[in-house]
Amino acid sequence: MSPNDLLENIFDKFLQVSQVFKNREVLHPDYIPNHLPHREEQIRRIGNILAPVLRGSRGSNIFIYGQTGTGKTAVVKYVLSRLLQRGREIGAPIEFSYVNCRLAGTEYRVLARLSGSIGFKVPFTGLATAEVFDRFKIGLDSRGVLLIVVLDEIDSLVKTYGDVLLYELARINEGLKESRVAIVGVSNDLHFKEMLGPRVLSSLSEEEVIFRPYAAPELRDILLERSEVAFLDEVLTEGAINLCSALAAAEHGDARRALDLLRVAAELTEREGKQEITEDEIRLAQNEIERDRVVEVLKTLPLHSKLVLFGVYLITKASVKRSITGDIYEVYRELCSVLGLDPLTQRRVSGIISELDTIGVLNSRVVSLGRYGRTKKVSLGIPRGVVRNVYSEDNWVGQLVGYTPKCLSSKA
Ligand code: ADP
Ligand code: MG
Repeated sequence: MSPNDLLENIFDKFLQVSQVFKNREVLHPDYIPNHLPHREEQIRRIGNILAPVLRGSRGSNIFIYGQTGTGKTAVVKYVLSRLLQRGREIGAPIEFSYVNCRLAGTEYRVLARLSGSIGFKVPFTGLATAEVFDRFKIGLDSRGVLLIVVLDEIDSLVKTYGDVLLYELARINEGLKESRVAIVGVSNDLHFKEMLGPRVLSSLSEEEVIFRPYAAPELRDILLERSEVAFLDEVLTEGAINLCSALAAAEHGDARRALDLLRVAAELTEREGKQEITEDEIRLAQNEIERDRVVEVLKTLPLHSKLVLFGVYLITKASVKRSITGDIYEVYRELCSVLGLDPLTQRRVSGIISELDTIGVLNSRVVSLGRYGRTKKVSLGIPRGVVRNVYSEDNWVGQLVGYTPKCLSSKA
């Protein structure tokens, strides 16, 4: 087949009317539906707390928390867009500024985004953070508005930078004459409050709204509503939707996981030329998502954890009978010396082995060594091929693919 025909095939396939989707956009992670089942209470509370801005008073600061995928971002964006719309209708000077702190990454960029949202551009770098803050404050006051600041995933910012920015923001109103600020802080981490000083805490959590995990029947309702818009009639089977809700309920009631499962399963169904999403496709989707998750975990491990894991991989590959902690440490030290790195102590490496066990990439169990006491026998918790594939592309560990540790030759 000539390269031209190859492309024509792809285009044809793409242009073909889907046998599965009616509207695939609504399964996109960023899509926010107009109706959010099982969050009426949170919508009502946040609406009540912020409504005073329509009549020109500040409204309380709100602190929102709950695990990932419980609908915090969707609800906050929904309430604020409705509030803004109503404000426009009656000519109230309301503005809102939404920043995802994890994506912004630094205090500087959070502030730059805030300034930008009220029309004051700040250079990407080059100023002191305090200077950006002052410019934001002066700019804001010259606008004469009620600004609602949403700091989403704020826990990730405070974990790195502490609560200084929040402290400054919480007391910004003291220095403003013409404008007012209300803060909506959103956290995925339930222990976030423990990271805050008492003054920031009392100011930020004037009101608190909690998002509990969804139960399986609630996830089912969410999926049903979305699938009516997303899929052609009779594509989604009863069995598939039930399994999908059950799996996501087990995953801390995560609606994002439920929707991801459904999207991946639907794409699979379409690719296979089938017209029904069944439990089989949901299971396949679960495997695919799980595989992606493992790859992500392996890629983002600290270097020495990667080396310990890779050591276990090399031991398994050499089919050495035992791999107890002592052996792993020996291999790990050899790998460090090949790469010219200083090895960590055996104690630290034992700690790393336990961590890798906790996240499921290693399995360790305690075995008795008779008179010599006890040790841990360790094996890979994931397929060997996955470790090899991910680490062949790693800058450091990639150099060791194909390496045979000398210290193993005596043990084979
Ligand atoms: P969080 O911010 O708590 O991590 P999100 O608001 O991002 O969670 O929700 C995750 C996904 O689930 C989003 O795609 C969102 O649209 C969807 N979602 C969450 N709750 C609901 C709901 N009650 N109804 C419809 N979709 C929802
Ligand atoms: Mg969110």
